[in-house]
Amino acid sequence: MRRFSAVLASLRQRFGRTPRWTIAVVAVASIAVSFVVFKAVQHRKTDVPVPGVPYSELATALDAHQVRRLSVEDGGTRLVAELTGPRHIGSANTTRVSAEVQKGAVGLGDLERWSARGARVEVEGPGRLPEDPVSFVVSFVLIGVTLMLVARLRAGVVSGGKKFEKVAEDRQLTLADVGGAKEARADLHDVILFLKDPSRFKKMGARCPSGVLLVGPPGTGKTLLARAVAGEAGVPVLVASGSEFGEMYVGVGARRVRDLASKARHHGRCIIFIDEFDSIGGKRGRPNRTSEEDLTLNQLLVEMDGMAGSEGIVWMAATNREDMLDPAVRRPGRFDRVVEVGMPTAADRLEILKVHAAKRPLDTDVDLRELSTLTVGYSGAELANLLNEAAIIAVHAESAAITRSHLDQARDKILLGRVRAGVVVSDEERRLIALHEAGHAVVGIITCPEDRLHKVTIEPRGRSLGAAHFAPDTDRHLHSRRYLEGIIAKALGGRAAELVFLGPEAVTSGAGSDLVHATSVARRMVAEFGMSEEVGLVSADPSAHNGAPSAQLQGEIDTAVRALMANQASRAESIVRKHAVALDAIARALVDRGVLMASEVLAIAADQGVPLKESIERTELVEA
Ligand code: ATP
Repeated sequence: MRRFSAVLASLRQRFGRTPRWTIAVVAVASIAVSFVVFKAVQHRKTDVPVPGVPYSELATALDAHQVRRLSVEDGGTRLVAELTGPRHIGSANTTRVSAEVQKGAVGLGDLERWSARGARVEVEGPGRLPEDPVSFVVSFVLIGVTLMLVARLRAGVVSGGKKFEKVAEDRQLTLADVGGAKEARADLHDVILFLKDPSRFKKMGARCPSGVLLVGPPGTGKTLLARAVAGEAGVPVLVASGSEFGEMYVGVGARRVRDLASKARHHGRCIIFIDEFDSIGGKRGRPNRTSEEDLTLNQLLVEMDGMAGSEGIVWMAATNREDMLDPAVRRPGRFDRVVEVGMPTAADRLEILKVHAAKRPLDTDVDLRELSTLTVGYSGAELANLLNEAAIIAVHAESAAITRSHLDQARDKILLGRVRAGVVVSDEERRLIALHEAGHAVVGIITCPEDRLHKVTIEPRGRSLGAAHFAPDTDRHLHSRRYLEGIIAKALGGRAAELVFLGPEAVTSGAGSDLVHATSVARRMVAEFGMSEEVGLVSADPSAHNGAPSAQLQGEIDTAVRALMANQASRAESIVRKHAVALDAIARALVDRGVLMASEVLAIAADQGVPLKESIERTELVEA
């Protein structure tokens, strides 16, 4: 017995908790196999040798009312008869005889006649296996597969299977693991108090929010916050993703919601966290929504109403698309508390970097404060990834700690992609790429002084053959028309350089992604930000038009976008012409060295008379 338990334990360790459907399938399969084995054995037992007699003799006995039971076997080629009295055959008396017949020789009329004469007729007598072993195996396999599918389907319907398990953490997360997000933490304080002691709220007649919606861009720590709240309150968290409720089978999503809720009730005080909530909580009745999705949402609302916060269970959900949610989701008693989890500010980034740096050895040359200013626009997940990549680089370099250089390399790897050492670029192409990138750099320095040049490279990385990398050095929440036009001009600077230095016939496909970027900025300026005189102060957002905007408006937007792009292209071209000497010098230096840091580019540009005193000062300040 102890041995059996040990085997069970080791199986459990190896395969985790066995899902219910597996148990069901194994049980059914075992019963089926046992049945077949039992029948085969029984068949063997009953298949004791029966003395054979000529068919004519047996037919006479049948017609003479001397047969009690007749079994027609082997597809009608063998008759086995149980006689009413013993008959002497060979050296012994027997009451059972058999006779071989031609297939088809015994017809239905014969059987009816013999039956009328007292014989109990059985076709394919008991205990016989089907004749054809292949069809037997095929039918057995088909039955098995069908049973398995039914069991799987039922598993999806009846239980959550391995879904919706309580998350097993190697350790409980707490708010100390969350950097920044001060407002979100403050908003969640009530929830922690409620989960710790729901009775305190009950006594006061206070209703704690039973549903909290965490809204924010990807990677800003929504899931992390839900887990940290659970950790602070010392309660488990059941994690599900909205997409897990989507099923083609009717009723499965709703059943899963019920299952999730009943699991939560079983736990008592806990958090139910649903990620990607918009895929379940989207507006009902929308054209692209299925009725199954509506059913699932209805079930969720019913479950939430049923709990109404009284059981110490808090629903938390995360979404990036609050606008997609059904209004019923936000009604009091449901997800009535909305917590915004925005992109981290510089101070938040510093806190997040500190959280992740605490687990890693950092060299003294690493300045996290500086790093937080160099990572404008990074989400918490991207910051965590940056430190992780730097740690990997440090491991490869066999370094004892993560240095500033490792972090620089990690940043380049994330922003520009991994260096592709295997790509062979001809000298002619190198010169061309250098001109293109120098074009971006020179135009960008002049038209986008808000963004700081970081470096220019013609090393093939990721999917690009070169890059002029600019990054804002401070958080900006609003962008002026001048800045956005500068962004378009900077993106078109590469093509402008090709045009000026090589002529219209020699321009290359290298501007493809630049055009995508520039066009999307131009379209937003025209269609969303009201920055075009031709179109005026009109938004093309479908919500402002109860559907798609009119064809006329779309046509006007296209014309205005084209005009804006053309203006910025000629602006970029004239800057390139004006500073062709500086651009050529930067391109030559790039061909020589492959990578130029901002200070080197700016020094060459300044030598050649490009007006960029402010940029140089700013770069020196940050790089000092
Ligand atoms: P998504 O919307 O894509 O599901 P999310 O907002 O739920 O993303 P998380 O999954 O919580 O983001 O974050 C991913 C990882 O990023 C976390 O495990 C953590 O390592 C890191 N992270 C994100 N935000 C923070 C933060 N504020 N403090 C510390 N680490 C963070």
